Amino acid sequence: MTFELPKLDYEYDSLEPHIDKQTMITHHTKHHQAYTDKFNAALKAYPEFYEKRAEEIIANIANVPKDVRTAVRNNGGGYINHALFWHILGTGTKLSGDLKVAIERDLGSVENFKEAFENAAATQFGSGWAWLVVDSEGKLSVTKTSNQDSPLTDGLTPILCLDVWEHAYYLKYQNKRPDYIKAFWNVVNWDNVAELYENATQE
Ligand code: MN
Repeated sequence: MTFELPKLDYEYDSLEPHIDKQTMITHHTKHHQAYTDKFNAALKAYPEFYEKRAEEIIANIANVPKDVRTAVRNNGGGYINHALFWHILGTGTKLSGDLKVAIERDLGSVENFKEAFENAAATQFGSGWAWLVVDSEGKLSVTKTSNQDSPLTDGLTPILCLDVWEHAYYLKYQNKRPDYIKAFWNVVNWDNVAELYENATQE
């Protein structure tokens, strides 16, 4: 079984007006599909990897044969990063419960966290991602990566992410990345983020 493009839990226009329908269609059916196809193609000579979880492959990238490692890092990274992104988006819900307490504990306050996350997203030079991650001690932090690199490769579990590649916002926001970053908070499904936090701290 090769890797498949995950389906969205909502419609392409569900995130309007914050993330527009046309961007969602192109992002999911063209960009994410392309990462999926190229990830599968990269592993064609090593089909035993199709049996693993994609997240496990990226977390242990050094185990991927050298001749396809860069292709797997880029396209497998794109595959899992977008899957997480779709999962944490949706009809915006409220941040509450254990995750809110942990954010206040580790990042000072919800306001401080949002500021740090927005700053990571705004200052990522060129293409990449902003992240809220959990370390092996259960501690939260904000980070950013270039291209399609995943925090999993650094032993961190991502629970919230924002795609700051231009393909993620250019149609609606053009050069105004900060406006896209601000709008993102309206469409975060905190219930799903909280569930990811719970899973990450139970392991
Ligand atoms: Mn993208």
